[in-house]
Amino acid sequence: MTTPEASGYPPAPTSVLRLYRDLHAHPELSGREHRTRATVREALTGTGAHLRDCGGTGLEAVLRNGSGPVAGFRADLDALPLHEHTGLPYASTVPGVMHACGHDLHTACLTGAMQWLDEHRDAWSGTLVGIFQPAEETGAGALAMLDDGLFETTGTPDVVLGQHVTSAPLGRLLVRPGWFLSSQSSWRVTVSGVGGHASRPHLASDPLLTAVAMVARLQSVVSREVDPFRMAVLTVATFHAGTKENVIPAEAVFTVSARAYEPEVAERLRTAMLRILHGEAAAGGVDLRVEEISHLPAVYNDPAENERVAGALAGVFGAGAVAPPPDPLPASDDFSRYAERLGVPSVIWNFGVHDPALHASGEAVPRNHDARFAPHPTGAVAVGLAGALAVLRERLQ
Ligand SMILES: [Zn+2]
Ligand SMILES: [Zn+2]
Repeated sequence: MTTPEASGYPPAPTSVLRLYRDLHAHPELSGREHRTRATVREALTGTGAHLRDCGGTGLEAVLRNGSGPVAGFRADLDALPLHEHTGLPYASTVPGVMHACGHDLHTACLTGAMQWLDEHRDAWSGTLVGIFQPAEETGAGALAMLDDGLFETTGTPDVVLGQHVTSAPLGRLLVRPGWFLSSQSSWRVTVSGVGGHASRPHLASDPLLTAVAMVARLQSVVSREVDPFRMAVLTVATFHAGTKENVIPAEAVFTVSARAYEPEVAERLRTAMLRILHGEAAAGGVDLRVEEISHLPAVYNDPAENERVAGALAGVFGAGAVAPPPDPLPASDDFSRYAERLGVPSVIWNFGVHDPALHASGEAVPRNHDARFAPHPTGAVAVGLAGALAVLRERLQ
C-alpha cells in the first residue's frame, strides 16, 4: 500500500483524518446536512474564520488575512441514498445513506486547509471564502448559497476553486483547461390522448404510438443535427405507459436527458428536441406537456487560472502526477453556477484516491456513486489537503 510518507507530500494531521472518518460515518442527504454543518462549524470555531449559515444547510466561512485577492473554495457536504458496502471500520452508520462521491473528503480537506491557513498566516495573504455547500447531488446547493448572500461581505471573488475525488490512483491529479464537465438538462414529457378498448383503436387517440415515435426520432438529433466533432448526448432512460394488454392508455410519460459542453450545442439539443416533440404530437393528434426537471451549465476551467492550479499541484506532487484527463468528463456539477452567476473565473480539478496497487491489479476499481467506493484510508485526505493548500497558497499572495 502506498503511503503519503513515501510519496513526497505530507501526511494529513490526525485531527483531519478523524474529521473525515466522522463525516464518513455520519452521511446526510442533500439539503439535510445539519450534523455535517455543525461538525464543520465546531472544527472551525476557534480559528479566525467568520462563520455564517448560508443557503439552507450550507456554511460560509470567511478567513481574512490582510490585503490581497479574494478566493472562494467550494466543498460539497452531501451524501447519496445508497447502502454502503465497503466493510470499512468507519463505514456509514446510517442505513441507506453513504458518502459514495467523496464529499466527506472535500469537506474534511477544506476544513483542514482553513485550520492550517489560520495557524500559518505568514504563508499567505488575502481573503479565503470557504464555501461549504449543501445539495450538490441535487444540483440545488450552489444557487441556494448564491441567493443567500454568499460573498456579500467580501465582494465578488477573484476566482472560485474546488476539487473532486475520482477513482484514479492516489496522487494522480487531473487538471484540464477549458471544458471540464458537461452541462446537464432533463425533461419530463407527458403525451396525452384518449384511452379506450384495445379492440377499438379508432375510438381512442393512442398516446403510446406517438410517444414511441418521439423516442425513436429523438435519436436522430445527435446523429443528424450536431457537428460530429462536438460532444452531445441525448438519452431517454424512462418510459411509462399502460396497465393492461387490452387497454389503450390515456397517457404516456418519458424522460429525456441531454449533455453537452458548448452552450450552443446544449441549446441545439433543446430546440431540436422540442421541435420533434411538437411535430410528432401534431402528427399524432395528441396533447403534449414538456417540463424541465433539471438544468446545470457545463464547468469551464479558466485557462490562466488553470495554469496556476496545475503549477501549484505540480510543485507538491511532481509534474508527472499532474495531467489532463484524455477528454472532458461527461459528468456534471453545480460548481458551474459560481462562474455563471458571478462572472468570475473558476477551476475545479480531480484527485485520485485509490491505492495504485488496486489499479495495477487490473481489477475493476469501484468508482464514485458505487456502494463499494472506498478511498485510501489515509492517503486520500493527505492528497486532498496538500492539493488544496498548495493551490490556495499560490493564489492567495
Ligand atoms: Zn456525485
Ligand atoms: Zn460529487
